[in-house]
Amino acid sequence: MLALRGGGPEALSREIPPEVLARVMRHLEGTWPREGCGVILQARAGEEDPWRVLPLPNVSPTPRVAYAFAPEAWLQVCREAEARQEAVVCVFHSHVDTAAVFSAEDRLQAAPEGIPLLPGVSYLVVAIQDGRVTSASTSEWKQGDFQTVPIPASDFRFEKAL
Ligand SMILES: [Zn+2]
Repeated sequence: MLALRGGGPEALSREIPPEVLARVMRHLEGTWPREGCGVILQARAGEEDPWRVLPLPNVSPTPRVAYAFAPEAWLQVCREAEARQEAVVCVFHSHVDTAAVFSAEDRLQAAPEGIPLLPGVSYLVVAIQDGRVTSASTSEWKQGDFQTVPIPASDFRFEKAL
């Protein structure tokens, strides 16, 4: 992965609004029974809707159990973000019929050799069972390791009523 201009320390306190999470989850429900993936970008300037959810193709050869961004797709994300003055604030992917844990594989992908590739970026993992979101968690690199916190169901369950 290419290095991005870092989100900076303020990125850690960014809260992704529930309606943005809902957009992510709708996409991930749609890719089941394969893992879906993508990024959430945030505009640097104060825009009315600074959030952009950008699903990316999962090019993993084993998409039921893993995800991967194509290098050219990632390059495109970096270029676009630069041009639009946005920052990637979150990388998301789903887990198919298993828990929303930040797995050893996820950890390795996000921080090979224990060094985070995208400092200041959070990792959202969403568990999808039978095409529906069951749980979610977010992980951020803090003080030398990834810290994972579950996302309360109340933060995304409302989307099911839509
Ligand atoms: Zn994973």
